[in-house]
Amino acid sequence: MPNSIDAILQISQQDRVLATSKKRLKTIPEKKKKLRIPVEKVEFHLDKLKEKEEEIYGKIRERETLVDVENEKIKKSDGKMAIIKNQKEYMASQKEIDIAKKTIKRVEDQILELEAHKEEISKQLSSVMEEYKQEKEVLSEKEQEVLNIEREILSKIDECKKSKAEVMLNVEPDVFKEYEELVNRDVIPAAVAISRSNCMGCAMAIPAQLFNEIMRDSFGRCPHCNRLLFYKAPEKPAEQPKKKTKPKKKAKK
Ligand SMILES: [Zn+2]
Repeated sequence: MPNSIDAILQISQQDRVLATSKKRLKTIPEKKKKLRIPVEKVEFHLDKLKEKEEEIYGKIRERETLVDVENEKIKKSDGKMAIIKNQKEYMASQKEIDIAKKTIKRVEDQILELEAHKEEISKQLSSVMEEYKQEKEVLSEKEQEVLNIEREILSKIDECKKSKAEVMLNVEPDVFKEYEELVNRDVIPAAVAISRSNCMGCAMAIPAQLFNEIMRDSFGRCPHCNRLLFYKAPEKPAEQPKKKTKPKKKAKK
């Protein structure tokens, strides 16, 4: 029987570690997700800048086409000038050319302005790109850390399961059945050792008579949380007076 008691207490301890490990494991996906937030922020900024750059490109291209169209108009008007018959036609062609030139001037000014803006955006882009690279590096380091933690937890879970399986052989089936019922109700640890009249699971006081019975039978149940309680005689405290050997050290050698 004592063997069985130790075994169930060990299993209880392992189940406790298992429960904490599983709880920790559950937080890993959320941790991984959170790690990505800074990179995602920079990515968002980067996308916005790229969009803006593309938009400016588009505006410049539109205006360049417009300049081409106006130049075409000037060419046509120039052609007309060669075969002009009167002053009125001359004036009309000249007016067309002037308007086209004015338009070109205005549009080219706009292009210059847009190009300056584009340059500004490009500068911002390269600095954000640098930031992005750094954040990615930080992310991969942190991801590695989380992966290591995850691996650690998984191997601990594995370890617990193995040692549980080993100890299981020593547990009396009836005791284990009662124990399992508690675990299934999430009462963890389900079996605890006590040496004082307090439950080591729920911390509540155990009535004196019940505690005496537990001391007598080595086993009982907590009247509050129903845990399996096993009595263990308190360990003898280390004798204090022995400490005074310390100052004597200098005597040797
Ligand atoms: Zn209790």
